[in-house]
Amino acid sequence: SKASAHNGCLLYDAGMTECYSAYLTLGGGLRKAIEEGQFELYYQPKIRSTDEYAVGAEALLRWHHPEWGMIPPDQFIPVAEESGLILPLGEWVIRRACQHIQEWQSLGLPPINVSVNLSGRQFLQHDLVDIVQGILTETKIDPKYLELELTESMLMSDAHETIKKLHAFREMGIMLSIDDFGTGYSSLAYLKKFPIQSLKIDRSFIQDLGVDSDDDAIVKATIAMAQSLNLKVVAEGVESRSQMNLLTNYQCQEVQGFLFAKPMSSTDFVEYLNNRGPD
Ligand code: C2E
Ligand code: CA
Ligand code: CA
Ligand code: CA
Repeated sequence: SKASAHNGCLLYDAGMTECYSAYLTLGGGLRKAIEEGQFELYYQPKIRSTDEYAVGAEALLRWHHPEWGMIPPDQFIPVAEESGLILPLGEWVIRRACQHIQEWQSLGLPPINVSVNLSGRQFLQHDLVDIVQGILTETKIDPKYLELELTESMLMSDAHETIKKLHAFREMGIMLSIDDFGTGYSSLAYLKKFPIQSLKIDRSFIQDLGVDSDDDAIVKATIAMAQSLNLKVVAEGVESRSQMNLLTNYQCQEVQGFLFAKPMSSTDFVEYLNNRGPD
């Protein structure tokens, strides 16, 4: 039977994606995982280049599976997306991030901006705007501290509906950014049609900064053009001081990467912010 094939599959490393898929589609496995608190949000600081203080964070989902250990998001998110379970999971992510923003502020930490990744299917959800509004009302946070990270492909599908949705978020006061910039087919000129405030240059362009002169040119030009369009630029995946030096020269406003910090639990992030947060 299907079920026993899936059960057998759980024993192997190969084809694990199909195992997760099987697991997730089995009677509310994902909802159970949410209820049992197997998911956690980690936070990776966003560092301001001028003084290297943390001025924001990106929420990154972690699944602590009781048997399989930590499962990386790249492996279960596409599967959750396929099964539609990304909708309750994605809603949980937004709610949890807003609760953390609220919690950190009540601890007296300097308020910072927290960004949350949206998946394609989640973005297409017709009542997404109402869901986010409900979470903001529930957690009573100032919407300007919440940022939604979108990808270029999400914007390409249905420009009219997309623009309407983005304007609704902007009217609520939420910040919008483009993730993995440079990996899609859009141009900055095209993106300017959308009410976005920042873009994140994909790690693949940062990796060989200072080594591959094409990447140097692309990153430098992207930052310059984004600035002329009044968009903030965040560089992803900064791992070395030499990459950082180049990005500072190019006047990239913010960076994220292992050079500064890996994603960490909310508890660890509170401690991090106490030491490296803005005044
Ligand atoms: P992303 O949005 O591009 O997130 C950045 C990824 O790069 C994170 O991986 C982060 O840990 C990693 N990273 C950060 N700095 C460095 C660095 O200096 N070097 C290297 N090698 N990697 C770095 P992570 O947490 O495994 O997430 C992978 C992807 O999963 C994310 O890519 C995002 O697309 C997706 N994801 C994570 N959380 C969520 C979520 O809550 N919802 C949705 N829809 N997707 C999520
Ligand atoms: Ca992201
Ligand atoms: Ca990214
Ligand atoms: Ca990525």
